Parts: sequence; structure tokens; C-alpha cells
Amino acid sequence: MSDVFQSMNKKSHEQVVFCNDPDTGLKSIIAIHDTTIGPALGGCRMLPYATEEEALRDVLRLSRGMSYKAALAGLNLGGGKSIIIGDAKKDKSELLFRSFGRFIEGLGGRYITAEDVGTSVRDMEWVRMETQYVTGISRALGGSGDPSPVTAYGVFVGMQAAVKHQLGKESMSGLKVSVQGIGHVGYHLCKYLHENGAKIFVSDMDDSALKEANKEFGATVVGLDEVYGLDVDIYAPCALGATVNDDTLEQLKCSIIAGAANNQLEKESIHGEKVKAKGILYAPDYAINSGGLINVANEIEGYNRERAFRQTDGVYDTLLRIFKVSDEENIPTHIAGNRVAEKRMEDLVKLKNHYLPRKNAMSKRDNN
Ligand code: NAD
Repeated sequence: MSDVFQSMNKKSHEQVVFCNDPDTGLKSIIAIHDTTIGPALGGCRMLPYATEEEALRDVLRLSRGMSYKAALAGLNLGGGKSIIIGDAKKDKSELLFRSFGRFIEGLGGRYITAEDVGTSVRDMEWVRMETQYVTGISRALGGSGDPSPVTAYGVFVGMQAAVKHQLGKESMSGLKVSVQGIGHVGYHLCKYLHENGAKIFVSDMDDSALKEANKEFGATVVGLDEVYGLDVDIYAPCALGATVNDDTLEQLKCSIIAGAANNQLEKESIHGEKVKAKGILYAPDYAINSGGLINVANEIEGYNRERAFRQTDGVYDTLLRIFKVSDEENIPTHIAGNRVAEKRMEDLVKLKNHYLPRKNAMSKRDNN
């Protein structure tokens, strides 16, 4: 752990907080990457990291990604993330999460947490007992609830942008789309696609999800591996990461990749280039799936579902801007996405001197 400052300097992290509470078993790291645009928002992962170095690496990498995601989503938020070292199946307790909440409270709003891999809405409700700086809690407690419908909507409008750019079409009617993973997001995505006249192909290992998609949306069921080689216009990964790799790229016949899954490119630098070389338009995952983040961010100002959907409409223009930069600079779209995000962050720095303090937004929320 001797290189913490060096690691922070590499990607310009502002603050890393190590939280240790032997009484509750809490071992956590909170990383705040950048708060230029606003407080750092990002979920809390609970994983049994093999080493503390691995945990630190993960939280630094993820928190930086959140700065870019928030900037691209047009939110006035910075990037942060936290991890709790532990086994989500065995080590959870009310005290653990309340202790974590107290550390967050101590940061006075510089970091706002939410659920992520290994944590749940219920865990966040324990965190909420100790701090107001938490989002993604249940609708019953005044939160935003399940973000998936908003995420799916963002993926759908992002797809429309990709179709316009790549195929010169305004309509999804008659287009063939394969959706991999009919879970929370995939299901709602199929609904939008069906309503807009697309022909849908679905794959999942969950038979009941496939049956439902077939019955409700007339979707054609295909095998788990068959999904890559289909003759479709759009491949929508909505299950796992790393599905765009050497093996699948040989099979893909689509002209667009646009889906909800995180980290779709197995190795960004290699597979981003390969996708481009193949003439496939890739909608960068962190831009197209930002509806989920927009949804939880909305909770900060007092949740309004309609506003969350309307803000998510912005995914369309953001993607068109990314595709334009990609064309103009002849760079893969995931790099173009970074450029667009960096430009917004740089631009907003100029506002710094004109910033007018306002009441803490979090205090507006019903805090019962
Ligand atoms: P989910 O767990 O509800 O659904 C995933 C589905 O994929 C499940 O039905 C599962 O059976 C299926 N699946 C797993 N492996 C598969 C495989 N090899 N082939 C086909 N299907 C497979 O998850 P979700 O909430 O719908 O999220 C989907 C993806 O989008 C995840 O990668 C998630 O990280 C990402 N994402 C989700 C949100 C959100 O709001 N839920 C926001 C941003 C990103």
C-alpha cells in the first residue's frame, strides 16, 4: 500500500478514505475522483477482495469511470465509488452498513453512495439511518426504486441515435435487434423495441424470461451462443460484460452494438479499435446505460420519475455528439466518449469563479 499517493496522482484522484471499524467488521475504501462539477456519486461494492491492493485498484478505477459517466449524462455530479471488503452472502449486518453510513456522513456530502454489486436497496436503507448522502433507496421511503425502466429507456433512445447515424433511419420499424439477457433492463428494452416495430431475437438461460418475451413481444428465442452470429442490425448486450471480444467479433454480423451491460469491450483499447475496423458502430456502454445513474441522481433533488425520463432523453444527443467526434477525429467511439466528457468537465471549470453557494440540495429531501 506504499504507492497510494502515486496511484491517486496517476488518474487525478482527489481523496481516498480508508474506513476501519473493528467493532462492526467494516473495512471500506471510499474514493472521490473529482468534484469539479458536483459531489461525487457512485455505488458501493461489497466483494471478498483477495488483497487490499486489489480493492484499492478497483475503487480507484470505478470512481474515475463515474466522473466520466456523470459528465456525459449531463449531471452536476462528480465521480466517486466505495468498496466494502467482505462476503456479501455472509458478512452483512445492520451495524456494518450503519457504520459505513457514519463514515459517509463524516464526509459532509462530498460523496454520495448507492447500491452496486454485492449491495442492495435494503443495505442502503441501513446506510440511510446514519446519513442523508445515499441514493437508490426504495420508493416506499421516498427514493427512486428500481432504475431499470429508465436505463432501458436510455438504451432505446441511444439505439435510435445509433440507427440515425449508422443507417440514416429515423425509425426502428422493421429493424432486427438481438437482445442478450432478458432481465430487468432487457425486458423493458424489448417492450420499447416491440412498440416501435422492431423484430426481436432474445437469448437468456432463464426459460421463463424467454417464454414471456416470446408471448408478449413476439420475440424469436435463440441459443446462448447463437446470439452473436445472427444476421441482425443491432446487437444489444444486456447481460454480462466482455461479450465483445476476439471470439464474438469474428461472428458478429450486426452494424450496431448498443446495450445496457457494463464493460462490453473485453479489452477497451484492443476491441474498441477492432469494432471500428469492422465498420460496426459501438454505442459506448457508459453513455448509453446512464439512465440508471440519471435516475438515482434525480433522488438528490427530490425524486420525480417523469423528470428522470426526460433527462434520459439527452442520451440521444450525447451519442450523436460522440459519433460525430469519432468520425471527425477518426477514433473509436469509446475514446470519443471520453473526449466529450472531458470537454464538459473542462468547460464547467470555467464556471468556478461564478459559482453561487446554494442550500445543500440533499436537505430538501424528505428525511423521515
Ligand atoms: P439482471 O440480472 O436483471 O438481468 C440479466 C439477465 O441476463 C438475466 O435474466 C440473466 O439470466 C441473463 N444472463 C446472464 N448470463 C447470460 C448469458 N450468458 N446469455 C444470456 N443471458 C444471460 O440485470 P439488469 O439489471 O437487467 O442489468 C443488465 C446489465 O446492464 C448488467 O450488466 C448491468 O450491470 C447493466 N446495467 C444495469 C442497469 C440497471 O438499471 N439495472 C444500469 C446500468 C447498467
